[in-house]
Amino acid sequence: MEDVWDLVVVGAGPAGSAAALGALRRRPGARVLVLDKADFPRDKACGDGIAAHGRDELARLGVPGLIDDYRPTPRLTVVSPGGTRVSATAARPNHVVPRRVFDARLVEAVRAAGGEVRRHRVRELAEAGPVVVIDGRIRARVVVAADGANSAVRRLIGLPVTPERHTAIAVRGYADVPDEDDVQLIAMQRAGWPAYAWSFPIGDGTANVGFGMLLPRLHATGLPGRQVLHGRLAELLPDRPARDLRAHHLPLSTGRPAPGAGRVLLAGDAASLINPLTGEGIYYALLSGRLAGEAASDAPGDPLPVYRRGLRAALGRHLRTTDVLARLAQSPGFIDAAIATAAHRKEVFDLLVEVGLGSGTVPVPLAYAVASRWLRDTVRHHRRGR
Ligand SMILES: Cc1cc2nc3c(=O)[nH]c(=O)nc-3n(C[C@H](O)[C@H](O)[C@H](O)COP(=O)(O)OP(=O)(O)OC[C@H]3O[C@@H](n4cnc5c(N)ncnc54)[C@H](O)[C@@H]3O)c2cc1C
Repeated sequence: MEDVWDLVVVGAGPAGSAAALGALRRRPGARVLVLDKADFPRDKACGDGIAAHGRDELARLGVPGLIDDYRPTPRLTVVSPGGTRVSATAARPNHVVPRRVFDARLVEAVRAAGGEVRRHRVRELAEAGPVVVIDGRIRARVVVAADGANSAVRRLIGLPVTPERHTAIAVRGYADVPDEDDVQLIAMQRAGWPAYAWSFPIGDGTANVGFGMLLPRLHATGLPGRQVLHGRLAELLPDRPARDLRAHHLPLSTGRPAPGAGRVLLAGDAASLINPLTGEGIYYALLSGRLAGEAASDAPGDPLPVYRRGLRAALGRHLRTTDVLARLAQSPGFIDAAIATAAHRKEVFDLLVEVGLGSGTVPVPLAYAVASRWLRDTVRHHRRGR
């Protein structure tokens, strides 16, 4: 049996590294251990898109320059399910950094801050009075579970997995593009909606390309997953043949995250914190990881209420907003109306980016503008059909 760690983090993705950094910044010298089943650098199926809000979190974690050597990609083009196209410069640029690089840099930052990172796959967890015992020998005052979409810890503490209707699946690959390509493209598809392909240029002559859809829609096709995902990607981005294809599940936010139980806090994908409108999860992972690490430092005897309050204050209204919007977005006409409104009103475009990639909410006038356009389009469509 080892000495008791102040904090053990399971998973060294963005949520896990943020938890360790958050705790170590709060209390330098704290005993923090991060366990991951993989050695770093390691790949992770992802679009590699890091929103400006994610960079804000990096600054809060004490690593503001972590991705400064990557070119910012300020331009964004979105094609709606009905074919409306909007192109604009985002108020703040996003970055595209391969996860092989990004996650390894975060792990190095944890080590530099005094945390220990160890290769270890967690299989068992037991509460024993004031400590949690991992795999019979590692003892922690607090555990942060940041072990991703198929979180073993979430299962071990008895919390249900994300329901299938709130789970998406996406495949990503890499394709050659001109060096000067600096437009993040999102091309939505009406078939099997909600579904979209993306192309996120990295700045080195390659782009991360991919395609994602809701899991029940994929199952409804009755076809093998590979065939559907790879096929739709090739169909939507015919000029960008992809290599290194790799797929993964995305547990989408239901509006009410599962923050954990007792001394075990869930962060990032393990807490189903992925934006249901865009599939964005890195910003939520960094934010929730930091909050969990801070709660572990501030209230080691009873961290869950502190963490729950922190999450609610940072994301509560936003998550409820995205939940409502995700229900409305089941109708492609709603998204068509939102994008058509954004096409001629830049402030609407910026607000949509805030909701899709950050922690924004929808002001009443915007809701009114989109709803009235949606209604108008629906009535026009109906009349044409008669
Ligand atoms: C195809 C695809 C594209 C996406 N594109 C984007 C995008 O462009 N931008 C964006 O913001 N988000 C995107 N996302 C979502 C994003 O990838 C996740 O939200 C993000 O990785 C969550 O980080 P995390 O730290 O919670 O989990 P992860 O990054 O999954 O890290 C979990 C870690 O836990 C480790 N682990 C797992 N089980 C155990 C265990 N039992 N013991 C020890 N270690 C364990 C794993 O090895 C891994 O290192 C995408 C997702 C997919 C699938």
